[in-house]
Amino acid sequence: MTGHVLVVGASLSGLRLAEQLRGLGHTGPVTIAGAETRMPYNRPPLSKDVLTGDDDEATLVQSLSFRPRPTLDDVTWKLGATAVACDLAARRVSFADSSTLSYDALAIATGLSPRRVPLSGGEKDRYVLRTLDDALALRARLIAGARLAVIGAGFIGCEVAASARKRGLAVTMIETFEAPMQRAIGIVAGQAMQALHRSEGIDFRLQSKITGFVDRGDGHLDGIRLETGEMIACDLAVEAVGSTANTAWLVGNGLDLSDGVLCDNAMRVEGRADVVAAGDIARFPNLFADHVPRRIEHWTVPGFTAKRAAESLVKEMVQSSFAPLPAFWSDQHGLRLQSYGSPSLGDASELLEGSLCPDDMRRQGVALGYRRAGRMIGVVLIGLPAARLAHYRNLVDVGRET
Ligand SMILES: Cc1cc2nc3c(=O)[nH]c(=O)nc-3n(C[C@H](O)[C@H](O)[C@H](O)COP(=O)(O)OP(=O)(O)OC[C@H]3O[C@@H](n4cnc5c(N)ncnc54)[C@H](O)[C@@H]3O)c2cc1C
Repeated sequence: MTGHVLVVGASLSGLRLAEQLRGLGHTGPVTIAGAETRMPYNRPPLSKDVLTGDDDEATLVQSLSFRPRPTLDDVTWKLGATAVACDLAARRVSFADSSTLSYDALAIATGLSPRRVPLSGGEKDRYVLRTLDDALALRARLIAGARLAVIGAGFIGCEVAASARKRGLAVTMIETFEAPMQRAIGIVAGQAMQALHRSEGIDFRLQSKITGFVDRGDGHLDGIRLETGEMIACDLAVEAVGSTANTAWLVGNGLDLSDGVLCDNAMRVEGRADVVAAGDIARFPNLFADHVPRRIEHWTVPGFTAKRAAESLVKEMVQSSFAPLPAFWSDQHGLRLQSYGSPSLGDASELLEGSLCPDDMRRQGVALGYRRAGRMIGVVLIGLPAARLAHYRNLVDVGRET
């Protein structure tokens, strides 16, 4: 393949795709088109250091931006360009400004957008977090003494809550599950993290459903009404209730877009040789776990899926099966949570080291293992010294499915 590769989505996955294409010797033209007007930047600090710090926008842009490698000097960047349609048969993408681009190969890297709570009211005080602009808008409202409700106690919700608490806000988290981050790390580790948040003064309403945003009558929030009738009084709310894949521009091509873009194990979109996907948007079978296609929303995924996708475009045949070890981290209240493997797929968890009470987690850390039908499929490590991480990572059984 020597022709024009069009990468749609100019964030981590788009950048990595272009780097991998050049690294694998693709010398043909590459265009990276993205909806944001900024060059690719790093998102994980948005819920952590950006919210707790006071750096101005220019400083943040400087510190968060990825430095494109010199091999990308001849790549064309088309920023501020939202793809609105795509004709896979004609190999053409249309953009919101009515421009079109033709390609020989297409790489899909349009990631996710935050899901919104489908209830009206208090719109002037409701925030989401995905972009630097989102983070700057939210940070401007994180004023000591204000009351913040965080809806959704997944990773982003928990990090926002911890950051806001550090800035002196009164924080209440509202969650439908029994424990924060339960889907990703299970109920035992989730309850341990809840105890940590509580010890820092964060309040919880678990197994709680929202029935309404109570509006003062001027678009500002008075509070949030729960199914129990209770009202959580708040000055602002963050909706951290998950994300939806940015697939609207791909509709009409007969693709399976039911949760992201369905890919095969070579990151090819439904077996097409000229279309690949990478990163948060890609639903692919990771043979580390099994043959079930899933999306994985971790920072490490753009790196390894982009490499695989670029190989699929550049090489005639991609032989070996693809079974990367998933990994993610989170920082909350000064503790690093590190995960390897797929704890969410475990059917049982066990304590490997330490204890789950907040003081012990702070002092010495804790390690949990997750088994699936006896196989150690994941570990979650909270507050462990960096030197101990590799030991537990090696406990994860990387034997792949065939
Ligand atoms: C606040 C936050 C904190 C995080 N913290 C962690 C962490 O601590 N640890 C961890 O492992 N992971 C973390 N992540 C996840 C990690 O950042 C993502 O996995 C990663 O950003 C995915 O990169 P991506 O390029 O696939 O998608 P994205 O970063 O979502 O990029 C997609 C790009 O495509 C653009 N786009 C969308 N639609 C279109 C369109 N129609 N046309 C053109 N362009 C389009 C978007 O504007 C965006 O720039 C965090 C994510 C967020 C948001």
